[in-house]
Amino acid sequence: MNQSGPTGSWEEVTMKELETLVRENVLRLTPYSSARQEFTGDGAIMLDANENPFRSELNRYPDPLQRSLKSALGEYRGIAPENILLGNGSDEVLDLIFRAFCEPGADRVLLFPPTYGMYRVIAGMNDVEVCEGRCGEDFQPDMSDALRILHDVEPKLVMLCSPNNPTGNLIDRAVIESILQNAPGLVVLDEAYIDFSPGASWLPELDRWPNLIVVQTFSKAWGMAGGRLGVGYASAGIIDILNRIRYPYNVNSCTQRLVLDRLGDGRLVQGEVSALIRERGFLTEKLRGYPSVEQVYPSEANFLLIRVDDPDALYANLLGNGIVIRNVSRAVPGCVRITIGTPDENRRLLAAFDSIPGGLS
Ligand SMILES: *Cc1c(COP(=O)(O)O)cnc(C)c1O
Repeated sequence: MNQSGPTGSWEEVTMKELETLVRENVLRLTPYSSARQEFTGDGAIMLDANENPFRSELNRYPDPLQRSLKSALGEYRGIAPENILLGNGSDEVLDLIFRAFCEPGADRVLLFPPTYGMYRVIAGMNDVEVCEGRCGEDFQPDMSDALRILHDVEPKLVMLCSPNNPTGNLIDRAVIESILQNAPGLVVLDEAYIDFSPGASWLPELDRWPNLIVVQTFSKAWGMAGGRLGVGYASAGIIDILNRIRYPYNVNSCTQRLVLDRLGDGRLVQGEVSALIRERGFLTEKLRGYPSVEQVYPSEANFLLIRVDDPDALYANLLGNGIVIRNVSRAVPGCVRITIGTPDENRRLLAAFDSIPGGLS
């Protein structure tokens, strides 16, 4: 698909092109079909699925096609339902992508560490070899290295995360564009934190790139981590393939209903996001005042990556104060990652910094 570049629209992506990327067993598979998929109306007598007919909150199976939720989400994001896949968290969406397209023991995936740890775990679960591309000091992929790997190793998947976890930076648009242009397979762009960086999403460009899958989640800005809802956006062809191997009832009815409600509260969520962005600025400024804090990296997400003189000691010290942060110093030397909390929590974090010996500015 590398020659398709910006030329193709989704309609031009023939099933044939995708067939060269998808695993053969997935193509041959006859997906499970429930009667619930065939019937769309209300008020029928449902004697198809061996449910207990007496009403409770959960006596019925959830809608396997997740129609109401997809149509509301599609409207919110400006994307047609046929270009949307819903998963049990984005971890499931990512796993479905690996399972549909990567032949265990044969295909490869390209990652750019430091990045989200689950990519490597999911690759491992699927017996897919990980190739690592280099990043510069600014956490941007080194493009000459990336182009060499794309050419020599021909990874089936490239995983990009923007804003990246745990570094907080956006990946440059020119880098993403060049990878989309040169990747021999599919490019997955994880936008888990995109609501904290409005305007940076690639969703509006989706129809320019038949090899792009954008992944988002309700776990971060939307405040629904407990509901487990992840979203994949891609060409209808790709979504069809992923749906073939998706468990029909992968998103439970509580989650479908509660997320639908939450989507209706878009303004409330935007208010929370604005508050977190303000707090991010406040914490950035305050943390820069501590001599033990060597660097606070700019963040487009709801966390800060900071480099300190002794990350293990800082982690232990904050833990002693009842504050749990993420020690990422194994992945990013000298660094810890701190999630932006409520204003009160952030002030308590700073109070703990004040009480740390040598932490005073
Ligand atoms: C938190 C996070 C996710 C979210 O995963 P869910 O399974 O949807 O909760 C996905 N990608 C990245 C980079 C994350 O940091």
